[in-house]
Amino acid sequence: MTGPLMSAHGLRMDYRVGRGQVLRALDGVSLEVWPGEVLGVVGESGCGKSTLGRCLLRLVRPGAGRVVFDGTDITALSERRLRPLRQGMQMVFQDSYAALNPRRRIGELIAEPLRVHRAADGRRRTDADIAARLAELMDLVGLPQAALARYPHEFSGGQRQRINIARALALSPRLVVADEPVSALDVSIQAQIVNLFMDLRDRLGLTYVFVAHDLAVVRQISTRVAVMYLGAIVELGAADTVLHRPAHRYTAALVAAVPEPVVRGGEPAPPLRGDVPSPISPPPGCRFHTRCPVARDRCRVEPPVLRPLSDGRDAACHFPLAD
Ligand code: ADP
Ligand code: MG
Repeated sequence: MTGPLMSAHGLRMDYRVGRGQVLRALDGVSLEVWPGEVLGVVGESGCGKSTLGRCLLRLVRPGAGRVVFDGTDITALSERRLRPLRQGMQMVFQDSYAALNPRRRIGELIAEPLRVHRAADGRRRTDADIAARLAELMDLVGLPQAALARYPHEFSGGQRQRINIARALALSPRLVVADEPVSALDVSIQAQIVNLFMDLRDRLGLTYVFVAHDLAVVRQISTRVAVMYLGAIVELGAADTVLHRPAHRYTAALVAAVPEPVVRGGEPAPPLRGDVPSPISPPPGCRFHTRCPVARDRCRVEPPVLRPLSDGRDAACHFPLAD
């Protein structure tokens, strides 16, 4: 395949939040996910990262825009038509416990998708097929076979995340959207799970959309990075370029806040002032202008479009740090 594995065009997502108010969680998000890449998605809490992940996998239907997976427009497909495609795209969530029914054994939990979906040749899997696949999956995620007979509460957070990954991989997806999959884990365990994600990508040829608010994690795993602010992408490009030579002041501030920022040349950016404004009434003009250290009159009235800079990355800024 020569095109992107997934693409989003102008995604918009509104939530009704009472008294007739509308919260625009996504405001025209477009991106491509190429086979074999890891697209990191970063941004402060509330910027729309999870909503984007859910729209990409059609766990929710966007209010406007399109999502194309592997050449098929999935934006408005019925659940029945979506079902065979769902095998190819899976999600791993932050809360390792919430996704697992506490009353069922690990073996049953991971077998569930294998029982629901038919095999590639259209037949139902036998118990022997399923047992063989469960054994394979335990090896892949580095858990002992004995884990299959146990219950979710018997595992640590890191082990439970391995179980969730095994479950997501059961049907051999091509795309995995991981929504803050290590944010709830101890730092020492985070590295193990990030390594597991990278190892699985190499072994299985997976493609990831990897959502995290922790830039240090995203820096480790991403080939490209999308930076989100208030429901929009403000910078998008090769991880090395975006994270080491940010063009957008928002990216620069996020990078400067990482414990060991690696910025080539120049002073580190000033830290972010204040909180993210409410997405119910976002600032006019550039949505970042209320927190931007260099905002000028133009920034207060004219929204910058996401446009390609000369080095190939995209940025939505009238006065970028690089051009
Ligand atoms: P992130 O994952 O970056 O923290 P989210 O996608 O979870 O951001 O949320 C984006 C915005 O949408 C936030 O302001 C959040 O409060 C709001 N939001 C998310 N889900 C809902 C919902 N189901 N109903 C109302 N508002 C929501
Ligand atoms: Mg989130």
